Amino acid sequence: MKRILVCEDESNIREFVVINLERAGYEVIEAGSGEEALHRYDQAAEKPDIALLDIMLPGMDGFEVCRELRKRSDSMGIIILTARTQEMEKVGGLMMGADDYVTKPFSPSELVARIDALYRRVDAARQRHEVQYLEEIRQGDFVLSLRSRTLRRDGTPIELTQLEFQIIEYFFTHPGEELKRRDILQYVWGKDYFGDEKIVDVNIRRLRMKIERNSSSPEHIMTVWGVGYQWNA
Ligand code: CA
Repeated sequence: MKRILVCEDESNIREFVVINLERAGYEVIEAGSGEEALHRYDQAAEKPDIALLDIMLPGMDGFEVCRELRKRSDSMGIIILTARTQEMEKVGGLMMGADDYVTKPFSPSELVARIDALYRRVDAARQRHEVQYLEEIRQGDFVLSLRSRTLRRDGTPIELTQLEFQIIEYFFTHPGEELKRRDILQYVWGKDYFGDEKIVDVNIRRLRMKIERNSSSPEHIMTVWGVGYQWNA
């Protein structure tokens, strides 16, 4: 659901805007003053994606509301509504952290188009942000989830030990690179580990049995003679 906070003191303009936004699929939170807008923002269980703020308001003006909303959210989209004669205010609004402005009088289709454009930007930025936090690494048919620490191939989970998981993580973050046994060992077992590098080979042999179609003729975990291993998706 797309959510928008509309702050406009003139009720006929506000109603006109609200009707058009609802028709365009937005859930609208209405406010007739800056104070009310901030109160409704703070009360909202699900925060609006966009705020549409008129500049000329009784009490707190649109700039102040904009600044206060920015303190609460960096990611929300903010559009300032300004009269044609208030050119300087556009600049002021953008300085206060607004993303765009619309000049009065406006057509509903222009307003909705500008809000839709901003919504798409906000939504795309949020999705990129979520992907960063998902920390999933894709390699061909494989997906490694760093959060749930699972590996899937075409959606089917492959059971891994913690050490195997870390080896795969190292491979997936260095695809196509020739990786030395010593580096794999240090990444997985830590820098203080002085055990035999053959432990790497033992784990690789097990991993191949789990991942390769034919573990004696691997397609993914390749041996690099005299060096170590190389991951190919
Ligand atoms: Ca006004």
